[in-house]
Amino acid sequence: MKIRAARFLLVPCLLLSILVFWGQSLAQGKAAAAPRPPLKVFISVDMEGIWGVVHGNQCSSDSPEYQLARKWMVQDTNAVVQGLFEAGATEVVVNDSHGSMRNIIASELDPRAVLISGSPKPMSMMEGLDFSFAACIFVGYHARAGSAPAILDHTISGAAIYSIRINGIEMPELGINAAIAGYFNVPVVMLTGDTETCRQARELLGQSLVVVPVKEAVNRLAARNYARDKVLADFRDGARKALNSLKGFQAYKLQPPYQFEINLHNSQQAELGVLIPGVRRPAPRTLTFTSQDYLEGFKLMRALIALAGVS
Ligand SMILES: [Zn+2]
Repeated sequence: MKIRAARFLLVPCLLLSILVFWGQSLAQGKAAAAPRPPLKVFISVDMEGIWGVVHGNQCSSDSPEYQLARKWMVQDTNAVVQGLFEAGATEVVVNDSHGSMRNIIASELDPRAVLISGSPKPMSMMEGLDFSFAACIFVGYHARAGSAPAILDHTISGAAIYSIRINGIEMPELGINAAIAGYFNVPVVMLTGDTETCRQARELLGQSLVVVPVKEAVNRLAARNYARDKVLADFRDGARKALNSLKGFQAYKLQPPYQFEINLHNSQQAELGVLIPGVRRPAPRTLTFTSQDYLEGFKLMRALIALAGVS
């Protein structure tokens, strides 16, 4: 009687266990298959603020020194990309942002990243960014024209631009581009470059910005480069830290109407730009205009700088 009773209980117990196990497996399977929410990061990479770069020859494709500098450029970028994927990034877009914008050796970039290469591009150093990104990072950036000591300080065009003011703020490229990121509600979370560029970035974008200095300028064409291994490790750590503390960042937004003021090196450089309707010339070397849309204003500014080059 006891044995029969035990058998009587054993069969439904076994069946129940199988059903429970099957249900758990299904639930686990579903959890494993659930897609991770996208976490897209945009990286704009300039060259003057890359580790080891101290001279324009290293940034010009007609110089033999350039080939080595572009390898440092991709190494700097890869260290950041690695940190981002370690911190959970699902997609990283790298936009080559210097000169011809064909500096990063495509086959040497971390194969998980997408590379935007070549020029001209409508949004230039920020091409590829849109509302779907969670964060923006600037690698290899430099200080605005008129900074010292700072390696290769300039703003967009060393030959044409004395200074650029937007809404009264004298802007480095990092500020002009951060406002484009702000247009898309994307915060800038990290920057790498020389110590002066890092200082300018925090002054403009806030002290919580993750900055990784790679060198300290002695003057415009000489710097003390920090130890390479430490710099690369700091890049990875910085990228992880920035992505892990995304909630602490706000997009950099200027208020419309956007007032652009372009100060050129000489009066001739203003002579073609002033022919465009809406562009004024309040001083011989100065062009100004106002835009309700930041991106439209940015594009007109770029056209005026291009015209300055052929005036
Ligand atoms: Zn550059």
